[in-house]
Amino acid sequence: MDDSGAWAVAPPPRAALPVAGSGLFPVRRIYTVGRNYRAHAAETGLGGTPGVSLKPADSVLPGGGDLAYPPGTAHLDPEVELVLAIGKGGADIAAADAPGHVFGYAVGFDMIRRDVLAQCIADRHSWDLCKSFDGASPVGEIAPAAAIGHPASGAIWIEVNGLRRQTGDLADQVWPPAEIIARLSRLSRIAPGDLIFTGTPAGPAPVARGDALHGHIDGVGELRVRIV
Ligand code: MN
Repeated sequence: MDDSGAWAVAPPPRAALPVAGSGLFPVRRIYTVGRNYRAHAAETGLGGTPGVSLKPADSVLPGGGDLAYPPGTAHLDPEVELVLAIGKGGADIAAADAPGHVFGYAVGFDMIRRDVLAQCIADRHSWDLCKSFDGASPVGEIAPAAAIGHPASGAIWIEVNGLRRQTGDLADQVWPPAEIIARLSRLSRIAPGDLIFTGTPAGPAPVARGDALHGHIDGVGELRVRIV
């Protein structure tokens, strides 16, 4: 389509992530799985099964870096998570076929205004806005599955100002990545460019301006963010 001169306002820039080696990964949607590690599910006091929510694609903070403390909160939590980068689309995907849909993996911080979440739950409102702000989704370099395989276990942790804050193991996920893809794709067709945050281990706690965040997943990568 020749769209020269067609836009009534300038199109926004496309969100994209760096890929280890070379290239860029275009971001289409961001799904986040909640309560996917048993210990974290227990500490939320909410019980039940893992669930999936959405956050805006343009909340991605490619490669980490400076993150401006968002408005409307006094309780900003980083949740360190394994992120799936989808390279092949589909619906009703069988768990056995799911790995073939994953282009690569990265370390992400699912940033959340915990106080906004609590108020939305209390008011029985949708809680999208607790995760919808600029920079809410820092994601590190994507490690292609062609290079690292499909990690099923390994340490996942975050340090804040050099002190270990959360630690867990990918093997402790209630829904491993293949099951997440199978369940999600029954309700929503996934497509190249989708990111899926796969949940966080126990112990997220708030950060403040000036804090230095360092996330790590064995065999996947690193992510560094400074709150400003
Ligand atoms: Mn999360």
